Amino acid sequence: MMYDLDECGNLKCCGKAMTYHFGREQDDSEHSQPSYSYEDKWTCGICNSVTPSRRYSDWFGSGDLHEEVADYLKQSAERDGMPLRIFFDGYMACLVYSEDVVVFGYDGNEYAHAFHFTNEEPNRQPFISQVLGLDKLTLVDEEE
Ligand SMILES: [Zn+2]
Repeated sequence: MMYDLDECGNLKCCGKAMTYHFGREQDDSEHSQPSYSYEDKWTCGICNSVTPSRRYSDWFGSGDLHEEVADYLKQSAERDGMPLRIFFDGYMACLVYSEDVVVFGYDGNEYAHAFHFTNEEPNRQPFISQVLGLDKLTLVDEEE
């Protein structure tokens, strides 16, 4: 699994829950909610890797984009397989498949979005591919 979370929603690495680091000082009062920010991160105590946190909170509540991506992959894997790439921009994720692009998440300013881009111009795409020098949408390893 690309994104594995434990039963408490903690991101896992090396088979164990990672440690959460808040970028902002947290309010210690009993009923306060965690205050997430773009500076938050996860660290792995075993391999020392650092992963930006995708947890967000707003007046409407909170969420975790890693969890949403994991859920999406779980429910779409059988139908679509795994994406070629997963890109992130803050709390938005972009999943690139050979024929589709799926974008969803929270925009950081009160709204959540979901888009599904697909090839509706099959006769034009080969031309664009030719212009761009891409025969097919394939991944090229830059080191080769
Ligand atoms: Zn690790």
